[in-house]
Amino acid sequence: MNNVGYYNGEYGPIEEMRIPMNDRAVYFGDGVYEAVLVKNRVIFSLEEHLDRFWRSFSALRIPFAMSREELRTELYKMVDLLDTDDPLVLYWQASRGTASRTHTFPKEGKANLMITVKPFVMKDMKTFRHRLLTVEDTRFFHCDVKTLNLIPNVMAAQQAEEAGCTEAVFHRGERVTEGAHSNVSILKDGVLKTAPLDHLILPGITRMHLLQLAGQCGIPVLEEPFTLEELKEADEVLVTSSTALCLKAETIDGAPVRMSAPELVEKLQEAYRQKFERETDPALRKS
Ligand code: PMP
Repeated sequence: MNNVGYYNGEYGPIEEMRIPMNDRAVYFGDGVYEAVLVKNRVIFSLEEHLDRFWRSFSALRIPFAMSREELRTELYKMVDLLDTDDPLVLYWQASRGTASRTHTFPKEGKANLMITVKPFVMKDMKTFRHRLLTVEDTRFFHCDVKTLNLIPNVMAAQQAEEAGCTEAVFHRGERVTEGAHSNVSILKDGVLKTAPLDHLILPGITRMHLLQLAGQCGIPVLEEPFTLEELKEADEVLVTSSTALCLKAETIDGAPVRMSAPELVEKLQEAYRQKFERETDPALRKS
């Protein structure tokens, strides 16, 4: 099988799976999700993603009844169905359930679980360079919850692509928030600066890893808001997300990034590469 879809206990090729029209994900985007890399049949940083998934559905009061152990088992079952050591991307979402369209929660709520797993070609951290486009952040104030409501992100990502760019960077006025599907950090004078964890950004798992690795590499970290001007004047700009790890940018709105601290970027990327290899070692598979 080249890919597998799962919906409430049923399996099949993703293209052939069907979900009910009354799944609240369809009407309201009323659900939460996670996406994570898999290599050597090991799900990378699964526990951190499960922690965030639990925080997300609890924040939206989605009645997700499976235990953490049951979900972990289901996710690994999906990975094993593809029967390969190659990189995969594993996605799952829980919606509030299936009910006739009414805004308020269904009385007999039971969450729907959807999972997909498919092959994934990772970008090479050493050679890939982002071209960024800045876009005013018109999203709501719950960006810390990983909900399915991604219309502004979709529109910004499309705008970036049509401008010949690879990622959009949101800003609220002068303040840079995050990417359309990533967190954005800067290096300036040897210090790694990234937006603080508040309701304006998603607490990225990769962002958290980057800060930990910076600590290990002796690079000071500042979790403080930074401006568009600081972004454009940075020595280096880093874009992090679970499926791409840590990539650097070469342009912002068509103007070159200084790229004047390549040794720091290489140090961080190498530390990340080693963490990824270590934590996807096939020996880590328990069963
Ligand atoms: N912000 C947004 C809006 C995202 O969609 C993502 C990707 N999930 C991120 C940040 C990065 O988060 P993570 O490192 O957990 O993938």
